[in-house]
Amino acid sequence: MDLTLLAPRAVTPDGIAAVTVGVRSGRIAAIEPIDADLPAERSIRLGDDEVLLPGLVDTHVHVNDPGRAEWEGFDTATRAAAAGGVTTIVDMPLNSLPPTVDADALQVKRKAADGRVHVDVGFWGGAVPGNLGELPRLHAGGVFGFKCFLLDSGVPEFPPLTHFELADALRVLRDVDALMIVHAEDAEVIEAAPPSCGRRYRDFLASRPRRAENEAIKAVITLARRTGARVHILHLSSADALPLIADAKAEGLRITAETCPHYLTFHAEAIPDGATQYKCCPPIREDANRDALWQGLADGVIDIVVSDHSPCTPDLKRLDTGDFGHAWGGVASLQLGLPAVWTEARRRGHDLARVVDWMATKPASLAGFARKGRIAVGMDADLSVFAPDEPFTVDVHKLAHRNPVTPYHGRDLHGIVRTTLLRGREVSGAPFGQLLSRGDA
Ligand SMILES: [Zn+2]
Repeated sequence: MDLTLLAPRAVTPDGIAAVTVGVRSGRIAAIEPIDADLPAERSIRLGDDEVLLPGLVDTHVHVNDPGRAEWEGFDTATRAAAAGGVTTIVDMPLNSLPPTVDADALQVKRKAADGRVHVDVGFWGGAVPGNLGELPRLHAGGVFGFKCFLLDSGVPEFPPLTHFELADALRVLRDVDALMIVHAEDAEVIEAAPPSCGRRYRDFLASRPRRAENEAIKAVITLARRTGARVHILHLSSADALPLIADAKAEGLRITAETCPHYLTFHAEAIPDGATQYKCCPPIREDANRDALWQGLADGVIDIVVSDHSPCTPDLKRLDTGDFGHAWGGVASLQLGLPAVWTEARRRGHDLARVVDWMATKPASLAGFARKGRIAVGMDADLSVFAPDEPFTVDVHKLAHRNPVTPYHGRDLHGIVRTTLLRGREVSGAPFGQLLSRGDA
């Protein structure tokens, strides 16, 4: 072996066990009992307070590079990922310029990322009005699926699909067995709601009612049924939609759903007025809604937890005026997903194996990464050494993402990532992450 990791506790597909993990040529080549004699050039022995985890797979990250790299960028985003135990990210097709809506734009994106990434990176394509003919080309180019909006995305170069256009896109994707991931809020419901303006969080929340999500999700389910395509609901916030998703799954439709660490951590009643670092769409809702989302996770109705890391510059967050109507919507959290979810999960009686399932194993299988998300022979040796009981207070200035804004600043969490390995090598110094394409990952 090139390397062995001796772990008194490791999260494996068979549960938490004491094992020696052998790494050869970047892959996991052996998993033996911890006292096995496995010769290796180098060995790492984990402490009794540490757990070996598979690297997390975060399928919802806005890197915004090229074009809006002052908001984030491949170097800073992937440093933050590695520091948070995330070894694979999939970059969203919008907020970069150009958006990833045709094969040329995918090449521009790959060029911007090449040689600059500290973890492995894949890309989503975008489905927008008029690019139906590009979808098979993007698919052949290696994107992991396609994102669309059902209402204004916040940037003019990535317009939403009508329900008719979504149906057409789903038929194209069904024929190549590609996944459609949907920002599911209904434009008409939002338009009919009172507009968001001013510093009061209550008013912002009222401008993005649960019904907007519920109605959009109903429409997506109807079209999944009609077309037979695979669909995924992004960043579920409205717990009212859980029965809809549960019924659609029970019916045999190919539908999955995600929620995000911020919906599982924060609740509306505790968000101060003017605190626009909490603004995201759909919004963080009431405490009882948060409890219901946790129940949805426990029940398996929600499949995965991924960050929706969507940062911007401090001026665009309007932290000076605290006006929710004008602030950019997006929460920066890529480095904090694991401790945030773990802190709340342990309080609610879930173990680390469950957290790994939500944040590594299932996101890998959703996106189609055959060698990611599990500690098992044949997998890439993407690993982290995690100290689950160590407390810390989030200091935004110590985080690796570009702009020092996050609602987690000052939050007390548990769980420190001490080391991250990508294909058997510690992530530090020069970047050696790879750009991944569907089919070869
Ligand atoms: Zn997003």
